[in-house]
Amino acid sequence: MTAYPTVKMLIGAEWVESGGDGSMAVFNPATEKEIGRAPKVSKEQLDAALAAAGEAFPVWSKTPAIERFRILRKAADLLRERTETIARVMTLEMGKPHAQAVGETAGAADLIDFLAEEAKRQGGRLVPVRSHNLLEQRVTQEPVGPAVLFTPWNFPINLPAKKIAGALAAGCTAILKPAETTPATAQMLAECFVDAGLPSGVLNIVYGDPAMISEHLITAQITRKVSFTGSTAVGKQLGALAAQGLKRFTSELGGHAPVVIGESADFERTVAACAATKFRNAGQVCVSPTRFLVARGIYDKFVAEFAARSQKLKIGDASVDDSVDMGPLAHKGRLEAMQQLVASMEADEGEIVSGGKALEGPGHFFTPTIIAGPSLKSQFMTEEPFGPVAGIVPYDTIEEAVEIANSLRYGLSAYAFTSSLDESHYLGNSLRAGMVAINHFAVGSPETPFGGVGDSGFGSESGVEGYLGYTETKLVTVAKS
Ligand code: NAD
Repeated sequence: MTAYPTVKMLIGAEWVESGGDGSMAVFNPATEKEIGRAPKVSKEQLDAALAAAGEAFPVWSKTPAIERFRILRKAADLLRERTETIARVMTLEMGKPHAQAVGETAGAADLIDFLAEEAKRQGGRLVPVRSHNLLEQRVTQEPVGPAVLFTPWNFPINLPAKKIAGALAAGCTAILKPAETTPATAQMLAECFVDAGLPSGVLNIVYGDPAMISEHLITAQITRKVSFTGSTAVGKQLGALAAQGLKRFTSELGGHAPVVIGESADFERTVAACAATKFRNAGQVCVSPTRFLVARGIYDKFVAEFAARSQKLKIGDASVDDSVDMGPLAHKGRLEAMQQLVASMEADEGEIVSGGKALEGPGHFFTPTIIAGPSLKSQFMTEEPFGPVAGIVPYDTIEEAVEIANSLRYGLSAYAFTSSLDESHYLGNSLRAGMVAINHFAVGSPETPFGGVGDSGFGSESGVEGYLGYTETKLVTVAKS
């Protein structure tokens, strides 16, 4: 069994202990046993982190792009070298299967590589002048300033890597507050940057009371950019704080992804992809497919096959068994949320055809759950479940499917399966989401933007947009003297 590391905060050049307000227990969600403790930051320590990020900014932002690129690339290489240990710690902290933790760490290294490269590619542009009197119109992207980054526990290395790499590549400095439940994974990522030669103060990492930390950091004069991934409710609060100081804000919030499955879709391939993707990370994924809208002609067959596949998944403690398909939910609150959701469904039309139960014994395990025919007004069909629960609803026309798909305020990802070219064109154009994938589920790659619309937030991470989000546009125009 991998040893759980001692968790410390990074402020300036120092790895430091709690600022006097005690520490927080970290649990293995599969056993409910305490595996370690994380320090809690004080307001004085937050001020020290802000000062460090502020002092480092003028130097880091003027560091040649090629130097920033070299440090980030080295950090990505170190992450690759340390993958096995980091993945084991990630599973201990939040329960995901080992193969998924390894894949996430490898993906994080690729993200850092892409954003590091972007530092070298973004040279600005020259705009043709309108009169003989003008010599030049130069448009550049300048780093916006110190950034504060808030990440959740469901992808404890991918999400911090995306934000840190975007910020640092663009020339910003950063303070990261990872989730309280997964502090060591984030620390191990930060160590890769430090060991790669990142100058002190460019990256700081703190843990503790989320509300106190976010309010203190976002309202601080020095902060110029806020990036948050988490729930829509918290995103709205942090967005309001950022808006008061006219600070740039990127929010990657919840989703409730629809999947439109047409009669012409390759049935076996589609149902296999749905079952494999729905229960990845125990469904705790913002882009998890959740509302399955299935053409009536194949509805019964789809429900039966999806349920049969979900029952074959091996559920267990991934920290001791690498063959587990689905681990526990990340914390007790998530398990309670699933139990409450299923209880609400029992009184609300839907038929629970599979799962719907917590497992006996220690650990926050919840069985893969399939609900057939939930009411469109039910809690499940209107609020993000963020767990291993799928609802399946029949539709008669493709227009009706799109209407149901687009009926919520969320708009993160949407999916469709069809072999009709006309249908795929129509669905790609009419599904309202920041990301639409047809005949597959892979919406997150280093090269492409990741983000939503409506209650799923705004702004994009990864891709070129993930770099540009940490910059502001500057025009320099020169006339003849
Ligand atoms: P939660 O809202 O208590 O916590 C989610 C995350 O938000 C945690 O990392 C927490 O540290 C952070 N957070 C909470 N309040 C904050 C504040 N005031 N300032 C800064 N950060 C704050 O809920 P939970 O039960 O842990 O997670 C479930 C909910 O969170 C779901 O509804 C889901 O939508 C959302 N969530 C979304 C994502 C995502 O990738 N979009 C990831 C994790 C959780």
